[in-house]
Amino acid sequence: MTQGAPAERSSGGVDPAPPPGSTTQPGDRTWMARALEQARAARIRGEVPVGAVLVHRGRLLCETHNLTATHADPTAHAELLALREGARRFGDFRLLETTLYVTLEPCAMCAGAIVLARVQRVVYGAADPKAGMAGSLGNLLQDPRLNHRAEVSGGVLADAAGALLRDFFRERRGR
Ligand code: ZN
Repeated sequence: MTQGAPAERSSGGVDPAPPPGSTTQPGDRTWMARALEQARAARIRGEVPVGAVLVHRGRLLCETHNLTATHADPTAHAELLALREGARRFGDFRLLETTLYVTLEPCAMCAGAIVLARVQRVVYGAADPKAGMAGSLGNLLQDPRLNHRAEVSGGVLADAAGALLRDFFRERRGR
């Protein structure tokens, strides 16, 4: 399930364990709660509810949510928008020492962009068995062949993130 293809997505009640080696850190739940607020804001706009927060050394750089429908842009995923806005504010495309919090496991596009941006750590909420590339379908974020690898923690506030997505698609189907 990608953020741009709502008809295809269903979180299906799957809520697997965090990836092996996954460790959470103090503050993870607080930042993820903030990302969830962004996801709720997306839902209010009729967007697939996925939110992201980019943090540099414990300070907020930017917060975003999915805008694929609003912008008619298949690349306007929450993570990609956070990387763009964060890099603009940062004044550097290398987002060193940043942590990206996102309510749904990143897709291939976003995982690729996260590697290009050298994000240090990625914390996600719900796993995405249909499109997730941080451990579900593959793991672009930690491929030893690439020149950058991010630390990954999954499953933070996953129930809330998954419920938001499930409700959104249930409501859509009911229309
Ligand atoms: Zn994505």
